[in-house]
Order: sequence, then structure tokens, then C-alpha cells
Amino acid sequence: MTSAGRFAPSPSGELHVGNLRTAMLAWLFARSTGRRFLLRVEDLDRARAGAEAQQLRDLTVIGVSWDGDPVRQTDRGPLYAAAIDRLADAGLTYECFCTRREIQEAPSAPHAPQGAYPGTCRKLSTAEVAFRRSVRPAAVRLRSSVTEWTVQDAMHGTFTGVVDDFVLRRNDGVTAYNLAVVVDDAEQGIDQVVRGDDLLPSTPRQAYLASLLNMPVPEYAHVPLVVNADGARLAKRDGAVTLGDLAAVGIGADAVRRMILDSLELPADSLESALGAFDPAVLPREPWVWPGV
Ligand SMILES: [Zn+2]
Repeated sequence: MTSAGRFAPSPSGELHVGNLRTAMLAWLFARSTGRRFLLRVEDLDRARAGAEAQQLRDLTVIGVSWDGDPVRQTDRGPLYAAAIDRLADAGLTYECFCTRREIQEAPSAPHAPQGAYPGTCRKLSTAEVAFRRSVRPAAVRLRSSVTEWTVQDAMHGTFTGVVDDFVLRRNDGVTAYNLAVVVDDAEQGIDQVVRGDDLLPSTPRQAYLASLLNMPVPEYAHVPLVVNADGARLAKRDGAVTLGDLAAVGIGADAVRRMILDSLELPADSLESALGAFDPAVLPREPWVWPGV
């Protein structure tokens, strides 16, 4: 299979300049290495009507093109179920009946990292499982045999992070992000994952899961986020931050693309012109503080 990179937005609303900058970076990483570039709509959760079409239009307007048709996670339930079945057949899953509050209030397992699931439901008897199923639907968790895992990242170097018995399928039946993303990347032939560095902490879980599923672990590049003047991740409440908002105050898509490429210290005439000068080794490592308009 040909190698590929990707952009994978959640259609929960309009893309803002931070999302657009990450999409442009993912495109630059993929195209500069001769990869295909795929678009995946991560709509398992938080999908809002009309948002997907708007996001695709905004990406096109900013100059990001992709190969083939976008893939939607809601069309891929059987792939996720098959992966969970494989793990279950290998004894690598268990049912969890904990509420959020029970997990917060449970004493941590010895040597467990902060915030890790304490393993409360790991050793329930068959009878206990049967009883609890009658009270509350189960989530499915991974029976992890490690507490941490190490990945290589083009921006962050060697990164080691927590792996716990994370959720594979929520108790409302929705496939968890960590499972879906691993299955999708492998199935789509994606061997380069470029995304915001807020996702770096969950990457060791995904790489570990890929290894359990005998799926290849992609190359990773976790790129700096765009932040507001207070240093917080940019959000809709930060004023005019989407192409629609910015157009309304007289800043068109070409100007937005130019601002983003300037922030990356790249030629700003077009994405193609930036591609000729693109070098991950000299990309800014710090978050970009959105200047506001
Ligand atoms: Zn539990």
C-alpha cells in the first residue's frame, strides 16, 4: 500500500486557524515526503449537522487538497468491532462497569501513574459480571500488560507516556477514539501522523495498541498549537478565528493562509511555494500566539 499522511477533523463546528494550521502542516509533511494525503472525518462523537461540509470547503479554500474521498468513522463500525473481537479473543479485554465518579474516587493501584484507570473491574468474577450487566451497560477496556510505552516523534524526539487499561468501546456503544484512530490509520495505509501536540500524551496508548493488533506504528509529528494571548489553546470564544468570522471582518482566506505560513516562517504565496522550502527540522517549536484581529 502507498504511504500516506492525513488530516482527521472532528465535525463538531467550524475549523479555526489552529485547526487550519495543523491541516496545512499535515499536508506539507505528507507532500514533502511524496505521500498521499487523506482526509478522515472523525464523527463518532460530537458531530454537528453541516459541519463536515463546511470544514471540507474551508480546507479547499485555504489550499489543502486531498486524495480520494474523505472517509467517515461512522461508516467503519464493523472494522472497529473486528479489532475489538480480535483483542477479546486474545484475552486482552475486559468489561468495566465503573462510573466516572467511581474511577475518580477509587484508590490508585500501586505504582500506577496519576489519572490511570485503577483496574477496578479487571478481576470481576463471571457472576459479578453477570449481575453488573443487569444494572448498567459495560464499557470494554484493554487489559494492558505495560504501564508506559515509548514513541518516536519528529518534533519531540523520544517520548514515553502512560498506558493504562484504557477504554476501547464506551458503555454507550461508541468506539473510543484510541481504538478507532489506530484501526483507521492502519487500514488506510497511513504511516505518518501529523496532529496537534495536545494529542502527544495519548500517543503511547495508540502505539501500544497498534503493536497488540500487529499493525504498523506510524511516524508521528506532534506540532505546536495555536494559543490565545493567555497561552490557552485557541477556541471559538477567542473572537474571529474561523474563515467565516475573519471574512466578515475583511480578512479573506488568502490573507489567513499568508498569516499561517508566515507564522511557520515559510514562503507565504501559496501552499505549493511553502512546500519547496518546507523542512521539519527548522519548524518553530513554540506555540503560535494568535495575534487576533
Ligand atoms: Zn471498572
